[in-house]
Amino acid sequence: MSFWDSINTSTRYASLPQAFFTRVTPQPLSCCRWVAWNGPLATQFGLPPLSDDPSLLDVFAGYSNFKGFDPLAMKYAGHQFGVYNPELGDGRGLLLCEIADLQGTFHELHLKGAGLTPYSRSGDGRAVLRSTIREYLASEAMHGLGIATTRALGMLVSDTAVYREEIEQGAMLVRTTQSHIRFGHFEHFFYSQQHELLKVLADHVIAHHYPDSLEQHNPYASMFEHIVIRTANMIADWQSVGFAHGVMNTDNMSILGETFDYGPYGFLDDYEPGYICNHSDYQGRYSFERQPSIALWNLTALAHALTPLVDREELDRILELFQPRLQQEYSRNMRAKLGLHQKHQDDGDFFSATFDFLQSTQVDYTRFFRALSSLDREGKGELLDLFVDRNQAQVWLESYLKRCELEIDSISERCTRMRAVNPKYILRNYLAQQAIEKAQKGDFSEVDNLLLVLQSPYEEHPSLQRYANLPPQWGKKMVISCSS
Ligand code: AMP
Ligand code: MG
Repeated sequence: MSFWDSINTSTRYASLPQAFFTRVTPQPLSCCRWVAWNGPLATQFGLPPLSDDPSLLDVFAGYSNFKGFDPLAMKYAGHQFGVYNPELGDGRGLLLCEIADLQGTFHELHLKGAGLTPYSRSGDGRAVLRSTIREYLASEAMHGLGIATTRALGMLVSDTAVYREEIEQGAMLVRTTQSHIRFGHFEHFFYSQQHELLKVLADHVIAHHYPDSLEQHNPYASMFEHIVIRTANMIADWQSVGFAHGVMNTDNMSILGETFDYGPYGFLDDYEPGYICNHSDYQGRYSFERQPSIALWNLTALAHALTPLVDREELDRILELFQPRLQQEYSRNMRAKLGLHQKHQDDGDFFSATFDFLQSTQVDYTRFFRALSSLDREGKGELLDLFVDRNQAQVWLESYLKRCELEIDSISERCTRMRAVNPKYILRNYLAQQAIEKAQKGDFSEVDNLLLVLQSPYEEHPSLQRYANLPPQWGKKMVISCSS
């Protein structure tokens, strides 16, 4: 008996009406091999270590079939850079199956890069190694930071050539999440006037993801409220850690409030609120500082798609919850990052002075907070070394230490707590780029090292300290192409 016999699968999405998807068989790449396998996550799903079973490769690469898999491409639509596009859907990814974890919760296994589907439009249905590594690293980094995200179960590389700006290696990512349903799923059924199916979709989401909404007077309004709150929490976490998604189209927004569809994302190096990570984002629509307002724009688009199910006034009332929730979560995060737990009447002024200071000095965002978490008893440490103008930094530091006198804990207690929320390691674009360039030559050691530090970014990792270094000048403000 193989482990496959004890895998518990479900077909909740595949049981929806035909209009929700098209069944598609994966088109295998040539000579696939694993280059990453997420052992701890695999264990959660009852899947063995890679070395134990060659059938893992055969099944995930699409060389042989497992009866529990029922591969399909989801249909959805979405607003891309503010413009509605009805033609979207899984153009290169397939939902393979839903699989139970050890607690009995179902997760979807999605194979990204599996070939053409009816929704591929002009694309080739493929993903390249470069973008697959970027998604693998980023989703595991976000998980390590404690931020809601899809996960990466494994990564396959192949000998198939894929044509982008240049010839690249075809690769595939096995991605997991409890649901791949996007805001764009709702928009599809709304704009195509299939309002009966819109209701079927909402009932599906409520039944499987927000069952407590069934007890509310309007379950659809309650579902929307959950999505608003989760999205606000996610954005607060992005802003606190310095993450820019880069392509916040409504088809890249998860109804579970998870970070989703990693493309030309970036983490802040220097503190620069206007940071634009996406090479194709000429207007800066998706710049770092605009993410909160774009998230609200996207939620408003979702609200519009829900008008057949919920009164406009009620939707507007729920949308109004977004801003205060985001503010509350963001300030909770930033207070924790600064180690300030007592509330004080002058805190507003102190916070704005702090952000002005960070912006005017353009200090490295991650290193600043980590250094602040490592001050010694005299309030000294490596912090001042991060600044060109040490005097300016000294003035701010004194105001900070004065503010800290209002706290009841000692410096060392405070620093211990701060190091648990201020990462030492962050996925800087140049680090990802270096790992990719080595991997393209067949050496995945940098990918493996990066995963080690990113999966527990608050730990010290003494032998891998180099990944916490400041970026070299060439590595700062890298913009990433959308082609993936
Ligand atoms: P993205 O910008 O990656 O979120 O993709 C937007 C849409 O384009 C989605 O419907 C994708 O499935 C589709 N897409 C992206 N790249 C490809 C590709 N290489 N082949 C086919 N469809 C793609
Ligand atoms: Mg997408």
